[in-house]
Amino acid sequence: MVDLNLAKVNKIFIFGIFLIVSFWSLTYGATLKKQQYRALIFYYDQPDSLLVNELIQKIDRPLQRIEGLFHEALDVPVSVRLTKSDKEFEGFLYNQVPEWSQAVALPQQRMVILKLADAEQIKKSPQILIHELVHILLYDFLQGAYLPVWLNEGMADYFSEGGLSFEKKIVLAQAMVQKKIIDLMSIDSLLKMKAPQARLAYVEAQSAVEFMAKQFGDQRLIELLKNIRHQKNFHKAFRFTFGFDLLDFEIQWNEFIKQKYRWLVLLKFEEWIFALSGLLFLIAVVVVYLRNRKKLKTLSEEDQDDFIDGGT
Ligand SMILES: [Zn+2]
Repeated sequence: MVDLNLAKVNKIFIFGIFLIVSFWSLTYGATLKKQQYRALIFYYDQPDSLLVNELIQKIDRPLQRIEGLFHEALDVPVSVRLTKSDKEFEGFLYNQVPEWSQAVALPQQRMVILKLADAEQIKKSPQILIHELVHILLYDFLQGAYLPVWLNEGMADYFSEGGLSFEKKIVLAQAMVQKKIIDLMSIDSLLKMKAPQARLAYVEAQSAVEFMAKQFGDQRLIELLKNIRHQKNFHKAFRFTFGFDLLDFEIQWNEFIKQKYRWLVLLKFEEWIFALSGLLFLIAVVVVYLRNRKKLKTLSEEDQDDFIDGGT
């Protein structure tokens, strides 16, 4: 979810985390279980063994696919610390991470902290771990070059999830109609955003990367990263890769979401439930009316039969 290095968190904070993590390793590390899968070393509490096995099984193929795309493998060891406690998670990060965050990648410390506090978080954990590992891969790939947060988060979501889900498309459509779309470069202040705005920022980032990949192919994304690594200047590298500025891209992308998703505003679930209940009511009225009419008809025919019977 959050990549602390690229979010320009100051060095004192990073050093603080380093101290806490080191302290934690010395004091509690010994009581934790440890399991290695390629360059990843999982640290977890004993009862979570099955969970870890399942997690490893589920990330195996997607991770290899992404490494193939980057033509680079995660080979420098990365510690993956799993925790079930909100308090512990916040404690690790010195309460510096927003409340909406479920995981954090610390590329310089070669560490991922993943929270599995409830069933929903456990279900999403393979995808979230892949998201965090993409941050680490990007960090390694760029060798210190600056990557805007929208591109970093967008790639992490696009490579771990693919395109936007239906629900995310509706979030985007609503923001578009209400003119609340955030400029891509303003997403750099993601860590200061409240949950709803942060959610929109993530959805936008994923959509922009998905649009880029659809227009130019996944390999062009990798080419952009290579150019950023060589030129050490994001805007220059962007122009070099695509032949136009980020602003031109943003206009194209905005036009695309307007054309493609605006109509989804009509699909707000509550409104449909309301419309559907009205429709069901109308159907019920018509059915009752038809049934009564049939009954009346049958009754009057029976009356007539009675009358005829009576007459003989
Ligand atoms: Zn992230």
